Amino acid sequence: MARLERARVGGHVEVPTFRLFIGGAWVESQSGRTFESRNPADTRDVVGRFQGADAADTALAIQAAEEAGPAWRRMPAPKRGEILYRFGRLLTDQKEELARAMTREMGKVLPEARGDVQEGIDIAFLMAGEGRRMFGDTVPSELPDKWAMSIREPIGVAGIITPWNFPIAIPCWKMMPALVTGNTVVFKPASDTPHCATLLVQLMEQAGFPPGTVNLVTGSGAEVGDTIVESPDVPVISFTGHTETGKRIAQRAARRLKRLSLELGGKNAIVVLRDADLDLAVDGITWSAFGTTGQRCTACSRVIVEEPVREALLERLVERAGGLRLGAGLEASTEVGPLINAAAVDKVAAYVEIGRAEAELRCGGGPATGDGLEHGHFFEPTVFDGVLPMARIAQEEIFGPVLSLIPVADYEAAVTAVNQTRYGLSSSVYTRDVNAAFRAMRDFATGIVYVNAGTIGAETHLPFGGTRETGNGHREAGHAALDTYTEWKAIYVDFSGRLQRAQIDNQPG
Ligand code: NDP
Repeated sequence: MARLERARVGGHVEVPTFRLFIGGAWVESQSGRTFESRNPADTRDVVGRFQGADAADTALAIQAAEEAGPAWRRMPAPKRGEILYRFGRLLTDQKEELARAMTREMGKVLPEARGDVQEGIDIAFLMAGEGRRMFGDTVPSELPDKWAMSIREPIGVAGIITPWNFPIAIPCWKMMPALVTGNTVVFKPASDTPHCATLLVQLMEQAGFPPGTVNLVTGSGAEVGDTIVESPDVPVISFTGHTETGKRIAQRAARRLKRLSLELGGKNAIVVLRDADLDLAVDGITWSAFGTTGQRCTACSRVIVEEPVREALLERLVERAGGLRLGAGLEASTEVGPLINAAAVDKVAAYVEIGRAEAELRCGGGPATGDGLEHGHFFEPTVFDGVLPMARIAQEEIFGPVLSLIPVADYEAAVTAVNQTRYGLSSSVYTRDVNAAFRAMRDFATGIVYVNAGTIGAETHLPFGGTRETGNGHREAGHAALDTYTEWKAIYVDFSGRLQRAQIDNQPG
C-alpha cells in the first residue's frame, strides 16, 4: 500500500514513507527525492516522508488518467455515483482517524478538523446523488415534430491543485463533482499536507474508483503543479490558493484555452451596526477571526463598526481574544492552534509591524512562546483598532489571527468599506433591523453574505466562491460545481421526415 518503509529517527521515532498513486498502483517517484511533513504544533514530530515527484511522474499520472477516461465516462453516472457513495461511507467510518491526522499535520483544533472531514462527507453524498440527477433541459422546439434537449458531458482529465488549510474538504469539493460527471483526476495536494491527501486517496482506492481515475502526485507547485497546468492533455484545472499563484496559472492556462476554476484570497468583513446584539457579534467575530488561526479564505480580518458601538465592541473583543487558549489542536482545552509553518509566522509578524505604524495595537502582536508552545508556530490573537479602510492591514490578505477594527460613521460608509478591496468572498452584517439586513444582502458585493452570523460556515449544497480577485467567476459546491467539469451538449432530433429550418420556417414573412 502507500506505506513504503519505516525508518528509525533519533533512535526511537519511526517515520513512514509514502508513495504516489498512479494508474492504481502506489509507486516511488522517478526523481528519488522525498520531503517531510511536520506537525506545526511541535516540529520535532515528523508525520511522514513523501515523494517529491517530478515532471516525468506527473506525465505518467496524466497518461494514466487519460487511459482510464473512456471506460469511466461510459460507466452510467448512477454507477459512478454509487462509488462516491461508498467513499462517503468510508469517510464517515474513518472520520475520527482522519480528523486526528489532519490536526497533527496542519494544526487546526480537533473539532474543526472533524468539520473539515464532514464537509468531505457532505460533498461526497451530495455528488453521489448527482449521479442520478445531473439535470439538463428538455424543452419544446420551435418546429413541429422536433425534439430539443441538453446534456452534460465530461471534459477529460481534471487537474486538481489544492491548498493546505482544508486538506480533506477542498480536494473532495473538487474531485467529487469532477468524478461523478465522468472526468478522471490528477490530484496535486499542498506540500504542507501530503499525509491527509494520501489518506484520502487510500480511501478512494478502497471505495472502488477504477485504476487511473484518481491519481495522486505529491511534490512542488513549481514542478508538479506547473506540469499539470502546461499539459495539453489536462483540459480542465481547478485551483484553490493564493491570488498571485492563481493569476500565474490563469496566464498559462489561457494560452491553451483551458477551463479553469480559481478560488483565491479573501479579506472578509463583518459589519456591526449600532443596533446589533453585541454579545452575538463578539461570538461570531471571535470564531471567524481566530478559528483555524485565521487561516481560512473566509476568515474575518476586518470588523467595520458604527462609531456609537465601537468602544463597547472593542472592549469585549479584546477581552475575548486575549483569553483564547493556544496550544496543540489535539488537546481538548485548546481554542487556537498553530500557524502552518515558520514562513507564515514571519509573514504575520511582518504585517503586525506594518499595522503598528498604521493603527493602534490593542491585543496580541507577536509569536506566542509560552509553556508547551516553544516547538510550534504559534501566534497571539491580535487586534488593531482605529484602522483606516485603505490601510495595508485592511487591504492585504494576512492569513493569520490578526483582526482590524475599522470605525465608520454610518451604514453607507460601511458598505463602501466592505466593497473597497480587491477580494469579494464573504461578508456579514450584525443588526436587529430587518430592512438593514436586506439592504446589506443587496449591497455587499461578495459571493457569500451572512446575516447575524460570522463570515465562515458555508454549506456544501450552496454555491461557494467570490467576486473580483477572489476568483474567476466559477463556483464550487452546489449544482454550480458541475459547470466547472462539464461541457453542455445541445441535441436536436427531427422526426418530421422533411427539411425544417430553424428561425426561417414557421416564422412570419
Ligand atoms: P498557494 O497558492 O501557495 O498554494 C496552493 C497550491 O498551489 C499548492 O498545492 C501549491 O503547491 C500549488 N502551487 C504553488 N505554485 C504553483 C505553480 N506555479 N503552479 C501550480 N501550482 C502551484 O496557497 P496556499 O497553499 O498557501 O493556500 C493559502 C491560500 O489559499 C490563501 O490565499 C487562501 O485565501 C486561499 N484559499 C482560498 C479559498 C477559496 O475558496 N477562495 C479556500 C482556501 C484557501 P506547494 O504546496 O507545493 O507549493
